[in-house]
Amino acid sequence: MSRVKRPKFKGHIVIIGGGPGGTACALALQSLAAEMEREIKITIVEGKLFTGEQHYNQCIGVLSPPLPQLLEEALGVPFPDYLCQRTIKRYILHTENEHITVADEENPSFALRRIQYDTYMLKTVQERGINVVHARAVDLEFHQDRVVIYTENLPLEAEVVVGAFGLDEGSASMFTRHTSYQPPQALGSIVTKVHPQPEEMGDFAMGIHAFLPCHPGIEFGGITPKENYLAINIAGGNVDTNLMKYFLTLPMVKKVLSLQKPLSTNHRNDFHFFKGRFPTSLAKGYYGDRYLTVGDAAGLVRAFKGKGITSAVQSGIRAAETILTVGTTKKAFHNHYRTANQDIIRDLPYGRAIRLLTIALARFHLLDPVLRAAEENQQLRTALFEAVSAHAPYRDVVQRSFRPHTLWSILRNL
Ligand SMILES: Cc1cc2nc3c(=O)[nH]c(=O)nc-3n(C[C@H](O)[C@H](O)[C@H](O)COP(=O)(O)OP(=O)(O)OC[C@H]3O[C@@H](n4cnc5c(N)ncnc54)[C@H](O)[C@@H]3O)c2cc1C
Repeated sequence: MSRVKRPKFKGHIVIIGGGPGGTACALALQSLAAEMEREIKITIVEGKLFTGEQHYNQCIGVLSPPLPQLLEEALGVPFPDYLCQRTIKRYILHTENEHITVADEENPSFALRRIQYDTYMLKTVQERGINVVHARAVDLEFHQDRVVIYTENLPLEAEVVVGAFGLDEGSASMFTRHTSYQPPQALGSIVTKVHPQPEEMGDFAMGIHAFLPCHPGIEFGGITPKENYLAINIAGGNVDTNLMKYFLTLPMVKKVLSLQKPLSTNHRNDFHFFKGRFPTSLAKGYYGDRYLTVGDAAGLVRAFKGKGITSAVQSGIRAAETILTVGTTKKAFHNHYRTANQDIIRDLPYGRAIRLLTIALARFHLLDPVLRAAEENQQLRTALFEAVSAHAPYRDVVQRSFRPHTLWSILRNL
């Protein structure tokens, strides 16, 4: 019987970015190396200080399944239940004139403050003895036998560098300069917060409101309940503060926000606006000799809506497995890392198709009949839930939606 010879990886792995993808990759590398009895050194370079809430990563903070299992089973990290502020079991989907509630009691998501998740994960990494350098990585040098990572602190030398830098433009251009990497396409997002009176928060318990307005500049919007406030976000190619203000005046949004007092008279509603971006395509050259990227940096997320944290953790774990069991060459990453992420990659065209279809239907005011049809058609209701909650691949959503019976229900409701 022939024994498969595996390269014995020993050495230093530097991860640029200590968000969900970077921390998951570091923890997976450490536990896998221990299992394989290999000595490795891992360093995370993270430019932000999460402790004391000095910096943050822009996010609504909804953790989707199977994140609890990934943390506990794949990384041996207890899921931080104590940080969760809301259990999300329902989505209320709004179009111009209709709304529908879709629910799954069995597989809830959890809303928390993203800054607290990042603090928890980075603290866990440090408690397990993984080196964290608080500085930005500013440049790279690729050699045949090593990579040099220049930071705002000391330079580092590694056998392989993992790009877990999200959609940071400076980091993307650093990789673009030295490799064939090209960042993914992205969609802009504006976030703001509203503080209802404490007694009004109950009305929002357990449900995320998702909106599909027919304005060409807004692809979707959402209102997510947190402990004592509502996080409101919109997404689109060029969203800005004016579009957010316009969104807040839409009848479908105002109806949901119909609080006892008008928002403007509530002194806690300061209306600060925050900006972020979501990837909507796979990055080009997301791996090569001695480097690979994970999470948002790789564009390894759903093409339309949600689950970015869970996907970043998944790709971080897969990166660790590839480095330790297969190697650090472009070929190894092509054969193993790319294949391991096929669930995400194969779903991208379906996600893009649903995105374009939703934009077109919204533009022509045709989403109302879809929601009316879903009231009577269980398959369509399930498809809507899966699309909005990110609980199933878009391929399943497409297969459920394009059945003759479902299409006929929509036509009848036109
Ligand atoms: C408005 C908005 C709302 C969202 N809401 C949700 C949600 O509710 N649920 C969900 O699952 N996903 C959500 N997402 C998506 C989610 O935030 C991302 O998919 C996820 O954070 C990706 O993780 P990551 O580790 O790849 O990158 P990031 O979380 O972006 O982490 C990258 C890290 O790298 C660091 N970094 C970057 N460059 C350097 C450098 N040169 N040197 C040192 N450090 C560096 C950054 O400081 C950062 O900490 C949202 C996104 C946006 C924009």
